[in-house]
Amino acid sequence: MTPAQPPRRTLVTGANRGLGLEFVRQLLARGDHVVATCRQPGRANALNQLAGEHPGRLHVLPLGVAEPKSHAELARELPLVIDGIDLLINNAGVLHSGERFGHVPPANLDDSLRTNASGPFLLTQALAERLVEGAKVANLSSVLGSVASTDGFHTPSYAMSKAAQNMATALLASALRERGIAVVALHPGWVQTDMGGSGAQITPDESVRGLLKVIDGLGLDDTGKFFDYRGKPVPW
Ligand code: NDP
Repeated sequence: MTPAQPPRRTLVTGANRGLGLEFVRQLLARGDHVVATCRQPGRANALNQLAGEHPGRLHVLPLGVAEPKSHAELARELPLVIDGIDLLINNAGVLHSGERFGHVPPANLDDSLRTNASGPFLLTQALAERLVEGAKVANLSSVLGSVASTDGFHTPSYAMSKAAQNMATALLASALRERGIAVVALHPGWVQTDMGGSGAQITPDESVRGLLKVIDGLGLDDTGKFFDYRGKPVPW
């Protein structure tokens, strides 16, 4: 008889709404032990309800991804709830809409870079010691960050920050490879969330189902690559 696999320990950022919340729901449903992080746990009603329904299996902890001090606090607090991380999902992200060339506010660019690029890079660095051998890191990117495409013209701050995040993914992949840790960039599709809008093509359920299948199938050969939620390679 094969011994039962221990539950995976997964940490999700930006878990209070959108894709992050859907990740938490599906991870709990498959038996993972989940650390769900968000800026204001006291106001994360859906997460707190899930925590009540899954005692001991869901921990809600504070994390502002653009704040390195917050990363350090999370790294200190983490051993109190889990003894290692098998999967880190850098999901939190921001999109400032309504930008156009000639009128891009510097504050938008600064916030986007800190949240979408520096955030996942510095958080992964801060939690690197907690990632177990063979762990996986999934960075939620976007086709709008592909230098190969100019679709990002209407969202310059977002597009530049996701392109920078893609470089962070490639660098983290090379730094963590020797520990057997795969790091990838993932495009979730155009999804019906606050960011994607109600006219988007797919539901969070479909996107996250696809993303988890892609993550489950990742090997070290895939590290440093960029895939969409159906497992199709995305050009950098
Ligand atoms: P939402 O706007 O619905 O949710 C964004 C999440 O990120 C919220 O939980 C938000 O928290 C959190 N967040 C934003 N800034 C910070 C911060 N500084 N610190 C901590 N948390 C923060 O977005 P989606 O769920 O749609 O997007 C999830 C990821 O997928 C993002 O990285 C996005 O770029 C990417 N993506 C989404 C697409 C789509 O069509 N939806 C398409 C391509 C990529 P709070 O409630 O506190 O603001």
